[in-house]
Amino acid sequence: MTDELSPPMPRPTPTTEPFWQGLAERRVMLQQCSDCAAWIFYPRTHCSACLSPNLVWKEVSGEGEIYSFTIARRPTAPPFRGMEPQLIAVVELREGIRMNSVITNVSEADLKVGLKLKPYFESGLGEHTLLYFQPL
Ligand SMILES: [Zn+2]
Repeated sequence: MTDELSPPMPRPTPTTEPFWQGLAERRVMLQQCSDCAAWIFYPRTHCSACLSPNLVWKEVSGEGEIYSFTIARRPTAPPFRGMEPQLIAVVELREGIRMNSVITNVSEADLKVGLKLKPYFESGLGEHTLLYFQPL
């Protein structure tokens, strides 16, 4: 059950379930192609580089750095009212994949492109653990 004032939560599918299960266990899981070694994110049924269906899940450190960021001082949508300022970033993991996320446990003054990050497992917003990031 959702309403417009609740933040949207992920709905795991058979393809994405290992990613969400990993977060519930405080582990970052990514797919890697067995044929060309490309790292894949978001979870898919086929490699985005060579179209191989031979993808395997591997645990990674979840460490990376800020590729880009913004500070949202107004709600980005009604469900996020009261959560501002939101420190929203594109994070590039060591494996080279990029994901949108939220940075926490950091002062706005310390936010910068290239800031080294580690995972922060946000489990207080709903039934699923979300992958945020914090300074390394
Ligand atoms: Zn591949």
